[in-house]
Amino acid sequence: MITAKHKRVLILGGIGDSLKLTALASSIPGLEVINSLAGRTRQPVVTSTPTRIGPFGGVSGLRNYLREQKIDFLIDATHPFASQISWNAAIATSELNIPRLMFVRPPWKKIEGDRWLEVESNKAATRVLPELASRIFLSIGRQELVSYAHLKDLWFLMRMIEPPQPRTPVPPGKILTERGPFSLEEERSLLQKYEIEAVVSKNSGGDATYPKIIAARELGILVVMIQRPSLPGGEQVSDVESAVSWLRNYSN
Ligand code: NAP
Repeated sequence: MITAKHKRVLILGGIGDSLKLTALASSIPGLEVINSLAGRTRQPVVTSTPTRIGPFGGVSGLRNYLREQKIDFLIDATHPFASQISWNAAIATSELNIPRLMFVRPPWKKIEGDRWLEVESNKAATRVLPELASRIFLSIGRQELVSYAHLKDLWFLMRMIEPPQPRTPVPPGKILTERGPFSLEEERSLLQKYEIEAVVSKNSGGDATYPKIIAARELGILVVMIQRPSLPGGEQVSDVESAVSWLRNYSN
């Protein structure tokens, strides 16, 4: 028997956990799931969940989409550094009185052996780096490489899923285009092979990108850790299972 779908959830995604969430949510009877991606990567991971790709056009675009598509709930499962879309979602859902849940994985916490310098932004990282190291592993994706482009006396190992757009200014160094996750062994040998003296990382949280932090700890390498931007308030969960329970409650 085919179950009639009668509630719709929009999941704002773009991270590994959101894929897991959309898969689990799709198995909830009576719930139709739509996944939304910004369209940053040309080859996103393919899933069987219906997916829309591309920006909405700000708060008003998102509000129109939610209204036209008759969305009943929204889960914001975007990366903790994707704050613009999170604020847009908070405003649009509150205007339309649509329940919204944020899935936010906990930030990493500094533990014994870690050498972290916590800074508030990429800009702040660029100000401290010249004093700290000359060979740097820049593990921040490609969108903010331009902030580092003026640091011509430093050498950067830059890892990202897809190469920067042509003519984007980038700092001196080597670009590696690879999609994670990477094992601890891979991260350790990367840091050693390129004689890295400092790692720049966002405090993304989660397990998928944590091995580079462990490898830096083991090798006594400094990590310039970029703190998270501020996110809107509202109901939050930190694991996929709790997000699924929230959906089950609402879709009953
Ligand atoms: P952002 O600064 O918050 O968003 C910029 C604009 O991109 C938003 O205003 C929105 O455009 C559009 N957008 C963002 N996420 C979207 C989504 N899931 N569906 C539809 N449109 C979306 O975000 P970002 O930092 O550029 O990140 C873009 C995407 O990459 C997000 O989905 C995020 O989960 C993923 N990601 C980001 C990072 C990171 O470090 N920032 C890391 C891994 C994955 P409109 O205002 O026109 O609607």
